[in-house]
Amino acid sequence: MAKLNDNYLKLKAGYLFPEIARRVKAFSDSDPDAAAEIIRCGIGDVTEPLPAAAREAMKAAIDELGKRETFRGYGPEQGYDFLRAAIAEGDYRGRGVEVADDEIFVSDGSKCDTGNILDIFGPGNTIAITDPVYPVYVDTNVMAGNTGEADEAGAYAGIHYMPCTADNGFVPAIPEGKVDLIYLCYPNNPTGATATKGQLAAWVEYARGNGAIILYDAAYQAFVQDGSLPRSIYEVDGARECAIEFRSFSKNGGFTGVRCAFTVVPKELLAETAAGEKKPLHPLWARRQSTKFNSVSYPVQRAAEALYSADGKAQIAALIDHYMGNAKLLREACAGLGLDVYGGENAPYVWVACPPGIDSWGMFDKMLGEAKVVVTPGAGFGAAGEGFFRISAFNSRANVGTVCDRLRTIV
Ligand SMILES: *Cc1c(COP(=O)(O)O)cnc(C)c1O
Repeated sequence: MAKLNDNYLKLKAGYLFPEIARRVKAFSDSDPDAAAEIIRCGIGDVTEPLPAAAREAMKAAIDELGKRETFRGYGPEQGYDFLRAAIAEGDYRGRGVEVADDEIFVSDGSKCDTGNILDIFGPGNTIAITDPVYPVYVDTNVMAGNTGEADEAGAYAGIHYMPCTADNGFVPAIPEGKVDLIYLCYPNNPTGATATKGQLAAWVEYARGNGAIILYDAAYQAFVQDGSLPRSIYEVDGARECAIEFRSFSKNGGFTGVRCAFTVVPKELLAETAAGEKKPLHPLWARRQSTKFNSVSYPVQRAAEALYSADGKAQIAALIDHYMGNAKLLREACAGLGLDVYGGENAPYVWVACPPGIDSWGMFDKMLGEAKVVVTPGAGFGAAGEGFFRISAFNSRANVGTVCDRLRTIV
């Protein structure tokens, strides 16, 4: 009989969002009038319409495809040159950071890229992952066979978990021992925390000293408001020798449904063969994408390119202002309840400590029952998320205003 991939059987059933849905449904069934008033601040999806620059570019590209003279079929597997150049110039070289056009690999999402990247790494790497965390990093390592079984708390044997707490500002301590692959995400989902350039420099130093590679997820870089904070790990000297960076148009350009992202693999980045020889990873990722991927549709790549135009930049800035204005209101409302509030200043997530005596699911129930607001319990992102809940700023201003009014009424 054909054999399945046993690693998939180690995965904990998608627990967080189904459990949230179950509790929301139970509440709605018990009180149908209240159900109509529920406001969802749980899932991290954008709410505001697609920027006009992107829509216009997409429409023009569709018209090109409608004419024989300008029709295009398959594009380059790594993305069209026009987009790779716009990204390398707009996000990196224009900001004084060295990245070549052909180090940019366009894709249909950072979720896929952060998972697929494991294709180019061999077995036996020690994986370091923050706790709490975006679950994709953990689950894709389980699928790839890089872990053992999960314990009762959902922690997998073989993963080096790095607790992110209020005490360390939600930036983990550098490991005492040796790890090989390190997942970092700043600005962070779910904590909304940021890492300073000095903190990233310490990670780069560790990685270079230990032959480790940092997988840096910068999906939320556009939300950075404090000009002294890094937007890219490549702002740190030496990072080109030890880091891969993932970025997405999902959160800045509202592309969660449109789908476009990219991964940066510097040519200096080396890893070891089974025989102990050092080789560059850039050709491996190029080969992986050429073999298993046919890039992103032409209209979508034109839409992403348009985000780098003057209009596109202004429209992104307006979207970010909108969401960060929401975050500010949510921070103030939670602080007004006397709660300790983190994040929400350079990220669209507000991370709130539960009051004494209530755990994160308890707080979820309280927010739902008393305020009809759906938040995300921190425990769902990892053991160190217990004692916190996440409020997403991805919402309309009207909804956020209502959420803030209701928060003032809970006790
Ligand atoms: C939303 C998000 C992404 C972006 O994923 P896409 O697949 O590009 O939509 C990446 N990383 C994190 C942590 C995110 O929250």
